[in-house]
Amino acid sequence: MSTLEHTAEVAEAAPADRPLSGLDRCDSCGAQAYVRATLSGSELLFCAHHAAKHEAKLRPMAEAWHDESHKLTA
Ligand SMILES: [Zn+2]
Repeated sequence: MSTLEHTAEVAEAAPADRPLSGLDRCDSCGAQAYVRATLSGSELLFCAHHAAKHEAKLRPMAEAWHDESHKLTA
């Protein structure tokens, strides 16, 4: 049992792979975030609209670009 608990702790400690949730909000407009960019070790969250607006500029310099906009069903 302790092995399973340890695995869960490791997973939570890997924020780069953490899925976005409804609690994550766009830094620009406060809508639900679907993209998380990591820049210089800090995270930026964007809704699909602002991700598209900033992607061309930010993505080349981002260390990570986590895009869940495919989850949008609208
Ligand atoms: Zn936005």
